[in-house]
Amino acid sequence: MPVYEYEHLFDECELCEFRFGVVQGLNEEALQYCPSCGLEVRRVVSQVSVMTTRGFNAGKAADKGFTTWKRSGEGEWEKVAGPGVDAIVASEADRQAVQEEQRSKKAVDLD
Ligand SMILES: [Zn+2]
Repeated sequence: MPVYEYEHLFDECELCEFRFGVVQGLNEEALQYCPSCGLEVRRVVSQVSVMTTRGFNAGKAADKGFTTWKRSGEGEWEKVAGPGVDAIVASEADRQAVQEEQRSKKAVDLD
């Protein structure tokens, strides 16, 4: 699975690094919010931003202060490497908000 690089829209995050990586499937939608702090993020589209997990060295990236996250469940993230907390578990309210958003998106997408 590729590792996508994201950056915060505003450099205000005190909880995590400005840029971070997320292991995601090709068909997964881009994240809109940082799984760590909840601030808005955008996917950085560049050639180096899409690395396969095989070729991507999360440990090496961590040396440069780059955190890599992997989704481990609904609203749950585990850290692959890098600074920051080891795991993130969204609150029930957060999960509901995400589900709500996905529902409204589906209606628009004529899914
Ligand atoms: Zn953040």
